[in-house]
Amino acid sequence: MNPKPKAPNLIGVHALVWVGDTSPASVQTAIDQTVATGYDLLEFSLHDAVSIDRAKTRELLQNNGLAAACSRGLARDADISSEDPQVVARGAALLRESLDVTRDIGATVLTGALYSAFGKASSPLTVAGRANVVSVLRDLAAEAGPMGVTLGLEICNRYETNVVNTAHDCLRLADDIGADNVVIHLDTYHMNIEESDFATPVRDCGDRLGYVHIGENHRGYLGSGHIDFASFFAALAEIDYRGPVTFESFSSAVVAPGLSNDLAIWRNLWDDGADLAAHARRFVHDGLSDARALASARG
Ligand code: MN
Repeated sequence: MNPKPKAPNLIGVHALVWVGDTSPASVQTAIDQTVATGYDLLEFSLHDAVSIDRAKTRELLQNNGLAAACSRGLARDADISSEDPQVVARGAALLRESLDVTRDIGATVLTGALYSAFGKASSPLTVAGRANVVSVLRDLAAEAGPMGVTLGLEICNRYETNVVNTAHDCLRLADDIGADNVVIHLDTYHMNIEESDFATPVRDCGDRLGYVHIGENHRGYLGSGHIDFASFFAALAEIDYRGPVTFESFSSAVVAPGLSNDLAIWRNLWDDGADLAAHARRFVHDGLSDARALASARG
């Protein structure tokens, strides 16, 4: 159902580059612009989006030959890393609903901070809270498997979660969940804050890496910040990574009230999403190709 990638990786773009909501008109705009700029995949945040028209979105994606992914974080009152059973139950229900949306729109990946609320925690993760994460995500993975959906654990920085901040933490969490359809999701924006470099975490994940977000350190135009993308792309080539690589960028020019506020998007880093996305598509495509060429020349 998903289009065959022309290159080893599907190159994706986050819908918030285009639109701040998931009304039918906005979904149409996001899909049109994603196709026009040459991307293979569109990622929808389900953070503010449970009202998305599932059948219509699926049809539009299919008609345009686009793959799709969904992402989300949880909320303070619906957080599976809590010790409060009611808060955990609300988080688990939110995840099940998001899994249904993912399946219904024809996406094959549900990723993000599936394991906790977005935002700065006021204390470290507890042993009981971590056990709740493992238990809920193990059940969710079992439900997702027969739907053909892969769950991604996106490693986020310390100001957004206290559950997993590094590849090391995330691999341990995935080990404890112990499901084949749970993969690691690296994001260069978060790696810049938490990891020692941009290559070691990629190598440590190896074939368990299943999803990638490409973001600049300030979440604006790629190459206008200080992230060492050459080193990151080289490491992806080294492990022969074949999964999606999705460009993620946020500006106060396009606002989804819940998500933008949770991600602290206060600044205007760009106005023209089409120019930004076209630039990012070339940047990611060329970066991946150059790194592959270099890796194969080295043998
Ligand atoms: Mn991300």
